[in-house]
Formats: sequence, structure tokens, C-alpha cells
Amino acid sequence: MNKADSERMAGILETMGYSSTEEADDADLVLYNTCSIRDNAEQKVYSYLGRQAKRKHKNPNLTLVVAGCVAQQEGEALLRRVPELDLVMGPQHVNRLDDLLAQVFNGNQVSATESAYIEEDITTPRRHSLITAWVNVIYGCNESCTYCIVPRVRGSEQSRTPEAILREVQALAAQGYKEITLLGQNIDAYGRDLASSDLGGGVGGKITLTDLLYYIHNVEGIERIRFATSHPRYFSPRLIQACAELPKVCEHFHIPFQSGDNELLKAMARGYTHEKYRRIIDSIREIMPDASITADAIVAFPGETEAQFENTLNLVQDISFDLVNTAAYSPRPGTPAAIWDNQLSEEVKSDRLQRLNHLVNQKAAERSQRYLGRIEEILIEGINPKNPNQVMGRTRGNRITFLNENSPELISQVVSLKIIEARPFSLTGVYLT
Ligand code: SAH
Ligand code: SF4
Repeated sequence: MNKADSERMAGILETMGYSSTEEADDADLVLYNTCSIRDNAEQKVYSYLGRQAKRKHKNPNLTLVVAGCVAQQEGEALLRRVPELDLVMGPQHVNRLDDLLAQVFNGNQVSATESAYIEEDITTPRRHSLITAWVNVIYGCNESCTYCIVPRVRGSEQSRTPEAILREVQALAAQGYKEITLLGQNIDAYGRDLASSDLGGGVGGKITLTDLLYYIHNVEGIERIRFATSHPRYFSPRLIQACAELPKVCEHFHIPFQSGDNELLKAMARGYTHEKYRRIIDSIREIMPDASITADAIVAFPGETEAQFENTLNLVQDISFDLVNTAAYSPRPGTPAAIWDNQLSEEVKSDRLQRLNHLVNQKAAERSQRYLGRIEEILIEGINPKNPNQVMGRTRGNRITFLNENSPELISQVVSLKIIEARPFSLTGVYLT
């Protein structure tokens, strides 16, 4: 989601006449789009900023901006801490970057962190890829997971209208994009805040994520549709059915479980048990035995015992995920769990993280083996940056796949390859002979 925000802000800057430099030190304007999901992400911005603040003393025309979730979290405190800053803006203000900069150029130091209705995106993002694109469908999050800062920094849920989303997808297709990923922190909440409509198959005739998938599915030129992130509390059987039925929707589900222990799930306020989580995965695999399943997990949440941690290991052992993004719990300002008195030590955090990662890698390596000898559809996205004699793309299940061909003309095509090598997180394919 941060990448999608960065692309929109880069697009606005380009429309204003800016072009990008290779080095931050050569730029007239430096904008940091920041993440505050964990403390180490947050600390990075301070070290980068210090260097640019110094440069500003020599070059007063330098414009310095901090955007994103650290900006939202720290607000005016950031302006006091780094007085060289010109603009501090939260993620709800991304689409207003040009207005905010106009205020800066009028001589103001500006802070835009009040919660705001997010304007429909009328800018053209400067997208990183020419083949795959992010499409925001719902901003914000109304959950209250006790570890998480997202609701505080990204605000309440706000769905874009299906018509606006369709227009964006059609525009992407017209530009030659082949794959879109629909984005939301809790994408299953899509539509809850919109009025009932003719498209709606949800409660009270409200549109749901499933309805949206059907609504945008047939845009000509788009070959693959993905979505993230699913929340086990709201995940619906209709969605599984839609994924099985709709040919462009890839068989890949990213459903964070966070912990495999019911007491911890309760303390996290996640709203489901590990049994419910397992049932969701079972019902996906019943219909799509081969679907790719990925997740996020947190270790060493306050109070987590060794036995509770082992329940997380058990879940990973039983389910065999294709990938799990893991993190040690990091206390975030203003979140309930941050002030509980049962915090765990750094030693426990790193020990558990290491043990979980070890298992996750082992399971991913096992899962990868199922691809060996199979024919897979690969959407070629570009040249392998580490080996110019290879092109690379991804399977429908999102595994990175390399092909030993120096053939840039394949970029943007879907090719059928036979998989001859399987590593934990990537594959190598060859043409069928
Ligand atoms: N909306 C998604 C994920 C949002 S944040 C969801 O509900 O699952 C992405 C991931 O960061 C989370 O899934 C969680 O695993 C991790 N995360 C969030 N807050 C964290 C914290 N305080 N400490 C460690 N990891 C955290
Ligand atoms: Fe954070 Fe996701 Fe929970 Fe929302 S649903 S509070 S984004 S972890």
C-alpha cells in the first residue's frame, strides 16, 4: 500500500514538472514516504532525514517532505524535531500533494495530518512496472488489533466506488497493463461503507469484494487479478467460489493468521480461533487444492508463552504455507498492547523469530517441490536484474520464475513453461519441447 501511495505522489510531482534524480543529494525536493508498522521501519526515516536537513543549511531552496505513516503518527512533533522540514503529510493526504506544496511555496511550513476524506484519485501515478499495477479499493481499517498502528495512521475505512475502480482498471488495460492487484488493509470490508447498489450481493444489497471481482473481471487486456489482504474474521465462502469460477482471478490467498494460539488471538483482538482459520484454508483447498496460501505472523506478542508460540509452529507445520511474512512484536505508540506489563525480552523475540523462520523456509521449500515437472503459466515481467540473460515473471500462485532466455520481447506475455528447478521462493522453467 505504501508503494501504491509512493507511485501516486511521484505521479503528482511529475505532473508538476519534476523529474527524478538518481541521488537524493542532487534533488531540489526530497520526499520520504514512511512506514511505522514496526519501530525499525520508523527509525530509518530519522537517519535519512538528518542528512537532508544538513544539506538544507547549504541549500535553502531544498524542499523537504515526510509523508506516510510516521508523518501521521508524529504530526507536528516531527516539525519540531526536524525544523528544516517543509511538509509533514499523512497517508490520507496523498492525493493533495500538489495543493500542500503550493502552500509550502507560499512560505508556509505545513502539517497535514488531520483525518480526511480521501479524494478520488484524479492523478496519474508514476507506476514502477508497465505490466502489473496496484489498485486501491478500500483505504483505512476499522479493526482494533491490539498491536497495530494502522487504524490510527490510515484512518477509518473508505471504499472507492466500483465505477471509479472499473475506470482505473480500464485505463490500465488501455496502457497495456496485464495484471492488477486490488489493495485494502482489510479488503473483505470493501463496500461496507458504500450505499446499497444494483451490484450489491452483500448485507442490505451492499457491494462486496466478491461482487467487485465479478464487476471488473471482463476488462479486455487484463489477464490476471489479485487482491490483498484478507482477514480471517470476514473471509467469505462466496469469495472462494468466485476465485474458482473467474478465470482471471489468481489462485493465491494472502490471509494473515498472526498466531496459532486462541488465547493470543483473543489478546490480539483478531476475532477468530485457529480452528476457524484452519477451516478457511481447508475450504479453499477443497475447491482449489493447489491454491497458493501466504500469511503474516507475529512472534513474542506480550505474554506469549513457549507453549503458545509452539501453537504457531504447529499451525505452520500443519498448513504448509507458500510464504509467511514473520515479525517479532514491536510496541507501537498509542496501541493497547504497547503498555501491557508482560512484554518479552529481545532474546526471546529473536530466538522465536529464528525458529519460526526456519520452519517457514523449510515448508516453503517443500511447497515449491510440487511445481517440479509441471507446466505453469508465467506472466513475464522483465529481465532478471541479477542476470541479464534471463527473463523473469510469476506463476498464478505468485512464485517468481526465471527463464534462461535473453528475449526482452517476451516481456508482458504469458508463456507456458515446464518447471525444471524449484527453490524455496523461486522456480526455473524451460519452453516445452
Ligand atoms: N491488514 C493486514 C496487515 C497489516 S500490517 C492484516 O490485518 O493482517 C502487516 C503485518 O505487519 C501484519 O499482518 C502483522 O503481521 C505485522 N504487524 C503489524 N503490527 C505489528 C507490530 N506492532 N509488531 C510486529 N508486527 C506487526
Ligand atoms: Fe492492523 Fe490489519 Fe488489524 Fe487493521 S486488520 S488493525 S491493519 S492488523
